[in-house]
Amino acid sequence: MKKVMLITGASRGIGAATAKLAASRGFSVCVNYKSNVESAHEVVRFIQEHGGSACAIQADVTIAQDVKFLFQETIKAFGGLTCLVNNAGILETQMRIEQMDMERIHRIFNNNVFSTILCTQEAIKLMSTRYGGSGGSIINLSSIASRLGSPGEYVDYAASKGAIDTLTIGLGKELSVDGIRVNAVRPGAIYTEIHASGGEPNRVDRVSTFVPLKRGGTAQEVAKAILWLASDESSYTTSSVIEVTGGN
Ligand code: NAP
Repeated sequence: MKKVMLITGASRGIGAATAKLAASRGFSVCVNYKSNVESAHEVVRFIQEHGGSACAIQADVTIAQDVKFLFQETIKAFGGLTCLVNNAGILETQMRIEQMDMERIHRIFNNNVFSTILCTQEAIKLMSTRYGGSGGSIINLSSIASRLGSPGEYVDYAASKGAIDTLTIGLGKELSVDGIRVNAVRPGAIYTEIHASGGEPNRVDRVSTFVPLKRGGTAQEVAKAILWLASDESSYTTSSVIEVTGGN
């Protein structure tokens, strides 16, 4: 069967690394992005130059209409879907909770949680054996923040990742009868541009001294865990969260 992976937020960081690794393992890859058109096309170019198959599709995954369009375009491009990676996510400036306005907290939950629910709903309609599909795999991006809570930095973000953990457990069980496995990867401090959004671009270097392996992780190391969950090598794993945290 043709392997097709849709990755939300794949124009850079963990999503882009996952797209490249997936293509090298035989997946046709849909590279979703919100605004960074040049980076998304760069990922697609890289994949095609290495003999893989990919397309870039712009869609804001917080908007239901955009999400429908994203899945329709994926089907148009590749004829099916076998794996969804709910990767798109944001964090905002480090601060205590009483300083956060509610608009920010809505943005965090819209981008990190409600987007995951919207995309999962569309993926189920395509992959579930209940609706004539052949089954598949969904991988959510959690965070070590869901366990540590991110005090003084972004407890809103940490809470949104706690919701991802819970969704993963529930959906893994709910969709087991639909032929769909649902798992999550929980990265620790990984070198990507997301930390600049928190106001501390070099955050990974600062916190890496507290990591047992004494360094930050790379997007490629997270991508390897995602690809394991996307493969048949993990066929007896569902409702699970894999830690990629350097021992933290
Ligand atoms: P990143 O480098 O900031 O990249 C974020 C990606 O998400 C970009 O491609 C961005 O697209 C896309 N995106 C954001 N909002 C979107 C939306 N509404 N619709 C569509 N795409 C959207 O982030 P990252 O560090 O790779 O993180 C990826 C995931 O891993 C996130 O869920 C994050 O919470 C999680 N994570 C990261 C770390 C870490 O240390 N890096 C640790 C734990 C968990 P544009 O470029 O087009 O805006």
